[in-house]
Amino acid sequence: MQTPENPVVRDIVLVGGGHSHAVLLRRWAMRPLPGVRLTLICRDTHTPYSGMLPGHIAGHYSFEQVHIDLRTLAQAAGARFFRSEVIALDRSAGQVVCEGRPPVPYDRVSINIGATPRLGVPGAASHALPVKPIDRFHQRWLELLARVRTHSGKLRLAVVGAGAGGVELLLAMQWRLRAELKALSRDPDALEFHLYSSTAQILPSHNARVQRHFTQVLRQRGVQLHTAQAVTQVWAGCLQTASGQVFDADAVIWVTQATGAPWLRETGLALDEAGFIRVNENLQSISDERVFAAGDVASWPHAQLEKAGVFAVRQAMPLMDNLRRSLLAQPLRPYRPQRRWLALISTGDANAVASRGRFFAQGPWVWRWKDWIDRRFMAQFEQLPAAMAQTSVQAPALPLEDVEREQLLSAQAMRCGGCGAKVSASVLARVLARLQPRPSSDVLLGLSAGDDAAVLRLPPGQVLVQSVDFFRAFIDDPYVFGRIAANHALGDVFAMGAQAHSALALATVPPGLESRTEDLLLQMMSGALSVLDAADCALVGGHTGEGQELALGFSVNGLIPQDLQGLMSKAGLQPGDSLILTKPIGTGTLLVAHQKLRARGHWIDAALQTMMQSSQQAAQVLRAHGARACTDLTGFGLLGHLLEMSRPSGVDLRLQLSALPVLEGAAESAAAGHLSSLHASNAQMASALQSSAACAGHPHLPLLFDPQTAGGLLAGVPAAQSAACLRALHAQGYTQACVIGQVLARSAAPQPVQLVV
Ligand SMILES: Cc1cc2nc3c(=O)[nH]c(=O)nc-3n(C[C@H](O)[C@H](O)[C@H](O)COP(=O)(O)OP(=O)(O)OC[C@H]3O[C@@H](n4cnc5c(N)ncnc54)[C@H](O)[C@@H]3O)c2cc1C
Repeated sequence: MQTPENPVVRDIVLVGGGHSHAVLLRRWAMRPLPGVRLTLICRDTHTPYSGMLPGHIAGHYSFEQVHIDLRTLAQAAGARFFRSEVIALDRSAGQVVCEGRPPVPYDRVSINIGATPRLGVPGAASHALPVKPIDRFHQRWLELLARVRTHSGKLRLAVVGAGAGGVELLLAMQWRLRAELKALSRDPDALEFHLYSSTAQILPSHNARVQRHFTQVLRQRGVQLHTAQAVTQVWAGCLQTASGQVFDADAVIWVTQATGAPWLRETGLALDEAGFIRVNENLQSISDERVFAAGDVASWPHAQLEKAGVFAVRQAMPLMDNLRRSLLAQPLRPYRPQRRWLALISTGDANAVASRGRFFAQGPWVWRWKDWIDRRFMAQFEQLPAAMAQTSVQAPALPLEDVEREQLLSAQAMRCGGCGAKVSASVLARVLARLQPRPSSDVLLGLSAGDDAAVLRLPPGQVLVQSVDFFRAFIDDPYVFGRIAANHALGDVFAMGAQAHSALALATVPPGLESRTEDLLLQMMSGALSVLDAADCALVGGHTGEGQELALGFSVNGLIPQDLQGLMSKAGLQPGDSLILTKPIGTGTLLVAHQKLRARGHWIDAALQTMMQSSQQAAQVLRAHGARACTDLTGFGLLGHLLEMSRPSGVDLRLQLSALPVLEGAAESAAAGHLSSLHASNAQMASALQSSAACAGHPHLPLLFDPQTAGGLLAGVPAAQSAACLRALHAQGYTQACVIGQVLARSAAPQPVQLVV
């Protein structure tokens, strides 16, 4: 993250989390360039390592073993991770355009997005399962697996494309699917495999001994080979080849030559006939020196390089070096691809073939060798020392323009307090001009008026419900942070049963180059605005100042009828109510584990997703099912909020630990001691618990004290309505909402919360 001491001067944006970028991030962490910020934009958090993917399909490796966790890797490298799909490149503005969020500016951009399938054959796009993009294949494979498990009778699987990828994939699928059927006591011979090749020989880029060996293996395994038979048409249930023959095929897996992503054609970059980015020897686009490309998406200037992960991996170091050199205005260094490369191709069972030029070897030892190489490669992404990002090496200063030098000197000089700490008017004006808050007839003077204060009309018969929240950024994606900050602030108003009306923002941004401050503010406020707009809450003004860290908060106004009809307060619990929690808990411990590189990327994805889920519909559902008491979970954790409700309501509560909805990974993180700084003081409230010895070691126990950000609603709903209420909550997308306990009449016991397992 940008800080006043370490301002961001240049941005390198990495598009796609392919093999080159994964290795680059690992290396960058050891040799960062001060002032340069890396941002990785990828649609997936876990990217597959191609070398082990067939082994995973065959059932030899787990999902985790063959996927690189990009979110944790980026965190370790001190890079930002934006989980998003890139849909265009605006080269004139120097921006990467992403799906559903503001564009991301770059000084240099590197593209490593792999390839997309060439599904030009009629019917292939609708009826075939493409293996590319490789990151999407996993889901398709799981669907095929489920289909085979439930299918009765014969099933014909056709693989189209007999390069190394197609042959290896077929053998891996066959191995696994036969094992699945055997485990289900079904006949594995019910599966029939066909391999279609447009060439007369399979594996055309390998030597004759490799070709002969694989032909023999395929025959031994009962695979029907259709060589020199290009597939020309695919229908549901069958396909046709160039000879006019039609073959039955219940599933068609497409592993033919791939092409570049369609959006690359709109970038104006020079592409080759297949749509891949033409690069020079420095992995730099031949038509734009600010754009680099590596891996399958790069088209090498001399002989065509095989589309193989091994090249993508080898390109990582020269790519990193040249991105740095390009920013430092130093001469670039050419990448020299290996003339011959070793391919280790597995045969589904624990056997493999080695192929390099005319060299051929095969057997279980080749598999063990491959396994050793692959595991060693993946180990570098699993053992990420927490201090990696802090490793700093003094580097030559980046060339700066005069205006940038002045801005940096100013940012690093003594900063004023008072109104001197405001963000410059020009930056603010540019950001506000790009934000388009939703108009509201109740806003008489708002953001666009530029006046000293907003003037709002209260609709007749309504009274105001007000709340304020503010916190510093805990995630390096300002757009996501903006969304969560707005959601968190709105949670208070929804918990009261009110309708959101208007909001004032309070933001701090670290000083630095004006362009970076502007982008930070724009990203963050765009995220916040998307949430406020969806809640029909007008952004009517705010204040933006300089601070050590990025932080955002809102003062939110809500409306409720003046007779307070529908108001939910903390004091409204009634004995007999069921306690319902609408979202899972565990965000505090997960965010700490992420900081320490001890969380899995998909745990954090899920936690961010719940934090971005609005509580607006949940509040409506709870009210409609008779809730009179409600609160939103925040920093004091579940127990703190239970106590805040039980005391003013004059009731006791029974809480069932095993019923708590918990985010994946939260219990593990808490058990491993990754606890938030507020946890210890929250845990002092444990004296309010009556609990049996059985509760003491329960994995959910520490989560009672875990501070929540944008947590769910906790409400008391009449027991008779709780089942219908849960059904409605699930239908609204609160899939983990559940009853976590009951409200009891106040007892003489000094502890108001009974804990049961
Ligand atoms: C079955 C099979 C087995 C193979 N086995 C081997 C092998 O053993 N050895 C070998 O060297 N090669 C192998 N290959 C080839 C290998 O898969 C590819 O060459 C390799 O994956 C290319 O790597 P890459 O770095 O270019 O991109 P990829 O690995 O394809 O990664 C691209 C990344 O970019 C992301 N992305 C894509 N588009 C976007 C977008 N618009 N916005 C944001 N993110 C995006 C994806 O999510 C993904 O994370 C195999 C291929 C197949 C099909």
